[in-house]
Amino acid sequence: MMKTSPTFSERIEHVPTSFLREVFKVIADERIISFGGGLPNPHLFPTDALLRAAQTALQENPQAALQYGTTEGLPELRSAIAQSYRRKDGAKIDPEHILITSGSQQGLDLLGKALINEGDTLAVENPTYLAALQAFSMYRPSVLPLPLTEHGVAVDVLTKVITRQPPKLLYTIPNFHNPTGITYDEDTRSRVANSIDPSQTLLIEDDPYGEIRFEGERGTSFFNLVPNAVLLGSFSKIVAPGMRLGWIVVRDEALRARLYTAKQASDLHSSTLIQHIVHCYYRDNDTDAHVHTIASAYKEQRDAMIEALKKHLGDRATYTVPKGGMFIWVTLSPEIDTMRLFPKAIDEGVAFVPGETFFTGPAQKNTMRINYTNATREEISEGVRRLLRAIEQYEAEA
Ligand code: PMP
Repeated sequence: MMKTSPTFSERIEHVPTSFLREVFKVIADERIISFGGGLPNPHLFPTDALLRAAQTALQENPQAALQYGTTEGLPELRSAIAQSYRRKDGAKIDPEHILITSGSQQGLDLLGKALINEGDTLAVENPTYLAALQAFSMYRPSVLPLPLTEHGVAVDVLTKVITRQPPKLLYTIPNFHNPTGITYDEDTRSRVANSIDPSQTLLIEDDPYGEIRFEGERGTSFFNLVPNAVLLGSFSKIVAPGMRLGWIVVRDEALRARLYTAKQASDLHSSTLIQHIVHCYYRDNDTDAHVHTIASAYKEQRDAMIEALKKHLGDRATYTVPKGGMFIWVTLSPEIDTMRLFPKAIDEGVAFVPGETFFTGPAQKNTMRINYTNATREEISEGVRRLLRAIEQYEAEA
């Protein structure tokens, strides 16, 4: 029988596909040193503590842990998140403002569902996190790329855009940005906050990496600078991504109600069992100490990567030096197209993500995202040596 596919929705046909799928295919090969993924280091998962937490959750209150739950999430877990913000930012966040989500990725999808009509303008940093664009694209916004500098989004461009026509949404990753590793400085944060009219533009602050800080002070959250900003958080980088647990903080009651409805329609609620486990984990462990352990380990890996880039690539490359998070953004000489460099790098046994993948507007094709959290010091050094060989080969053929 002839195999025919159904007619797909226009919605799904408009979602950009990810080059990361190609990257994941090749990095399964053990001979390849991968700087391509965006994965936390699995050796740092708090396995023993989670094992105990799972046992406690199922012993203490198995009927609640295994039952359906409320859409907004477990009250104890929402309180723990609110307390954590209070401790770190002095921010007064009410547990009632928090909606537990299945990863912050779901938060992005729910925001898109609740807010975007076809053609609404969504301003984004260029480059930005590709899966956010995928989530939002489902709802067919008109995407407006804003240049990104090492200090944050280009405020002069943002201001011009706002004067012409304020975007409905501004999506930003102010801390240890994916893919570039940059962090907004305080001046840029306050200038962005001042340039926005909160009655016209909703600022979405996506902050899955904020706690993985190696140095410097914790930046002021947009949530505390812009009256109606919404803040997305996640347990993926501070506990484990396989839990698929995150949250959205929303002050506006009407938006919260819409997000509850959207979430109800999506999955009723996030896993009760996982919420109970994470709640027990937070209650019974020094989780700040664990986050500190992760940050210290990643800092060493970042240092090793910067050292290797300096030693092997010399002035062939410039790069960001992230103060936290998981990524470095490397810029090569303008004649190198990293998409074309990629297969050569794979032949040499090293993977990265070509920068072009993360751009929505004008792309800098000579860039790449490098992840340093999944390789040893030796692998980092060897991987960069292989990258150099691939670049030399590219240059020889040019
Ligand atoms: N936002 C950004 C900027 C990310 O980099 C990621 C994942 N890498 C997410 C959101 C989604 O994270 P999760 O769904 O695991 O919380």
